[in-house]
Amino acid sequence: MSKLRAAAGSGRGLPQGAGEVRRPPRRCRESPSSQKDMPPSVSAQQSAYHLFSRPAEIKAFRKNLLAWYDRCKRDLPWRNLAASEPDANRRAYAVWVSEIMLQQTQVATVIDYYNRWMQKWPTLQALAGASLEDVNELWAGLGYYSRGKRLQEAARKVVSELGGQMPRTAEELQKLLPGVGRYTAGAIASISHGQATGVVDGNVIRVLCRVRCIGADSSSPAVTNRLWDLANALVDPARPGDFNQAVMELGATVCSPRAPLCTECPVKPHCRARGRVEKELEFASKRLLGKAAPKGSPVPDVEECAAGSCSLCLPASEPWDSSLGVANFPRRAARKQPRAERAATCVLERGGHPGEPEYLIVQRPSSGLLAGLWEFPSLPLGPGLKEKQQREALLGHVQAWAGEAVARGCLRLVGETYVVYSLLLGGGAGAASSRRDGEPGRPACRWVTQAEFQKSAVSTAMKKVWKACERQSGEGRGPSKGRKRGPDALHAGQLKVDAASSLPRRQLSLHAFLTAPAGE
Ligand code: SF4
Ligand code: ZN
Repeated sequence: MSKLRAAAGSGRGLPQGAGEVRRPPRRCRESPSSQKDMPPSVSAQQSAYHLFSRPAEIKAFRKNLLAWYDRCKRDLPWRNLAASEPDANRRAYAVWVSEIMLQQTQVATVIDYYNRWMQKWPTLQALAGASLEDVNELWAGLGYYSRGKRLQEAARKVVSELGGQMPRTAEELQKLLPGVGRYTAGAIASISHGQATGVVDGNVIRVLCRVRCIGADSSSPAVTNRLWDLANALVDPARPGDFNQAVMELGATVCSPRAPLCTECPVKPHCRARGRVEKELEFASKRLLGKAAPKGSPVPDVEECAAGSCSLCLPASEPWDSSLGVANFPRRAARKQPRAERAATCVLERGGHPGEPEYLIVQRPSSGLLAGLWEFPSLPLGPGLKEKQQREALLGHVQAWAGEAVARGCLRLVGETYVVYSLLLGGGAGAASSRRDGEPGRPACRWVTQAEFQKSAVSTAMKKVWKACERQSGEGRGPSKGRKRGPDALHAGQLKVDAASSLPRRQLSLHAFLTAPAGE
């Protein structure tokens, strides 16, 4: 029985420094002119600080960034395809697949999936002709499974309704293709069609918030809109696809969340957050030499926002923290606590035809979470169920699949965080539950061998369950290996996955657990 709980709340995502000089909460510092002299257009002053307003600086930013990208970019299969594929539809498709796979998933994990996908379905037409089962099978382990399904649905739409022609602009891509949002549309249009349109993803947000010291909640609609404005203003019209990839590459490899490599950064001269850190370092070293005001004095010559009240600056309640440096940006509002959910899973095993064990997997509904994937019989558990009630509920559920009575004592709960049960049936392939396959009103189910299970469209969660079974058996094989079968031909195996196991120690919400991408 797996007991899955919510992840601990992450607050605003930035630790508070300890023991550092903290300035009192402040509003943006006033401009050198007094407030009464302030021009009526405060937003113009905001722009000067949080935006790129000088064409020469924009030009220099592009030049520095692209030169670095040409030198340092990673060699990735979708980049090679985008650069070498002469057919516009194939090129757009290749970029599209990569962008969907890369959502919420690390590059290193995606590469292998991408190569296999493009080998199997090199064109929109090939993908449109595939079955959802095949799509799910290839996607298995990549997480966030609805992405693959939506990608295929959209490919079918392009083939059947758009004559196989991918829309050429970001606006059309977003409007016409299901599952393609503003970011993906901008990425496809700029990379494969050369449209001069910016993109904003997590990496871009981090870079832009740092270079322009945008400290307001970066997930708020107002800040998001300003970031899109910035991205659109910065994108290089001569090389929009490369420029967008370069900003994202910078965020992924140099301007990382916790340990940015500012000294190696090609846009360091344009980065206001870095500028502030350098001023502070300079001031600290002067102070050490006794050439500056004592600790706690304001750092001189720090460039700051000129607006008296600014919706893009760090909030007054959480001002610049010297211990964080450039990681003061970006900031996000505290996330809501995920819901706590619990579920029970049971690995049902029986002797197969040539003596090889088989395991029952059941297909999930064709819509909703993990649509169409296969899983071991699982049961969501209501809140506050005591162990005895959980056992009753699981037993009833498993019994329906086993096709025979299962003794209550066969199931044993072990561990607290995430526990899986297994149940070995004694009747062999002819005896149990294949009669339920295809029964009206019941989900599809099938018995599979270990090898078949590994090839099936099962979620990462179920693969973890399998691994847990293997670890429990201690032989790196199926769930019951190494255990004796009971004389009554019905045996409950016990699996324990707790804080001492190699499964994730953090507690996850059911959704997070079931959709966690491989390698993340
Ligand atoms: Fe990021 Fe540092 Fe470069 Fe600024 S200088 S963009 S903070 S890596
Ligand atoms: Zn400001």
